[in-house]
Amino acid sequence: MDFQLTAEQQAVRDRARTFAQNELAPRAAEWDEHERFPEPMVRRAAELGFLGLTIPKEYGGGGIGPVEAILVIEELAKGCANTAEIVFDGLIGPIQVITHFGSQTMRQKLLPKAARGELLMGIAITEPHAGSGATDMYSRARIEGDEVVIEGHKAYVEDTASMSSFLTYVKFGDEPGAKNIGGVIVDKGTPGFEIGPPRKKMGLRGCIQADLFFRGCRVPRENLVVEPGQFSKLMAAFNLERCGNAAMALGIAGAALENAIEYAKTRTQFGRPLCEFQGLQWKFARMAMQLDAARLLTYRAVSNAAGGLPSMLEASMAKAYANEMAIAVTNDAMQTFGGFGYLRECPAERMVRDARAWALAGGTVEIQLNNIASELFGRRFSQRPPQAAVAG
Ligand SMILES: Cc1cc2nc3c(=O)[nH]c(=O)nc-3n(C[C@H](O)[C@H](O)[C@H](O)COP(=O)(O)OP(=O)(O)OC[C@H]3O[C@@H](n4cnc5c(N)ncnc54)[C@H](O)[C@@H]3O)c2cc1C
Repeated sequence: MDFQLTAEQQAVRDRARTFAQNELAPRAAEWDEHERFPEPMVRRAAELGFLGLTIPKEYGGGGIGPVEAILVIEELAKGCANTAEIVFDGLIGPIQVITHFGSQTMRQKLLPKAARGELLMGIAITEPHAGSGATDMYSRARIEGDEVVIEGHKAYVEDTASMSSFLTYVKFGDEPGAKNIGGVIVDKGTPGFEIGPPRKKMGLRGCIQADLFFRGCRVPRENLVVEPGQFSKLMAAFNLERCGNAAMALGIAGAALENAIEYAKTRTQFGRPLCEFQGLQWKFARMAMQLDAARLLTYRAVSNAAGGLPSMLEASMAKAYANEMAIAVTNDAMQTFGGFGYLRECPAERMVRDARAWALAGGTVEIQLNNIASELFGRRFSQRPPQAAVAG
């Protein structure tokens, strides 16, 4: 067991850290305040090659693995959570479904574009009436000749301003459960596909969230990247996305902790710096331990990722722990700033709001705990009332 980063891993992390500290952090408050997607920052991330880092080299990408991707996401999230989220989607979001499960033709067509930062793919799973119970989705697709026709409605979809396409989970039949769910790529601008107005969010306000509407939306048959009946492939790739979600939580909490440490060194009360009060020292020690424990769980999940995709158990443990850690650590960090911490001009205030999102996005903490329990007991526990129990 080796807890040291390789020279290559340190180099990619340091490159991300320099970009985050010099270019992202100084403007992070701006995107939040104006609820604008950080377009110049994303363009800059593409120029610096961050968006294509995980695309295999044969398709023009950087060819880095999931450990390095996590290091990059964590560093960028320290600088600006909004920019980091968009890069996270690019690095280990739904594009991984194409890398791992797409046909050779699809990989050749899409991955070079993704490597250049021209293709950014969001994910559309949740529906107004099917969130944690996603397999109850009522969006439907049918194959007509060489086209797939989609009717449906997705909710809470992130980054609708920045993404060029959406991997859309949809059912190809009415049977209950996951059996008929497939994954279809829908590009912005496709007739019959509409993005609703931005939803007003608590945090991550530069990542524009909206509902998606599909009304007789036709896409080429070749956009069906995961055929119905192969839901497990979508979930396998989603386990990696969950580790990215954990890395976002690590970065936001790490930045909040660093800011609070600096403040506690200089702010004086009762004639001494805050850091000299033992009550606060112990709080800082706990914050650091929680952050490190979450980091180790996340690094373990991606280090063990066989063939690039982590196990459900390790991904769910990393995500659930990191999500709860980030809520606790950012909250404690904000408390360090006293009244100033409650002002919008204090970065810790934004970090509390940004940290809160991750326990909901990507499957809630409760659903991760269900996953962990099912691995512990070696069986899935149906969440449905007994008379309605079906697989999934
Ligand atoms: C910031 C953010 C970004 C998001 N981005 C996307 C995106 O890009 N694409 C996308 O498709 N979706 C996205 N989502 C949606 C997210 O995945 C869902 O909100 C989440 O899966 C929960 O679904 P729900 O909101 O319908 O809550 P519900 O499923 O209604 O759950 C309500 C509460 O009940 C709990 N609960 C439900 N079932 C169980 C159970 N069996 N056991 C224990 N507790 C349970 C939940 O944990 C939750 O606390 C995003 C959400 C947020 C907040």
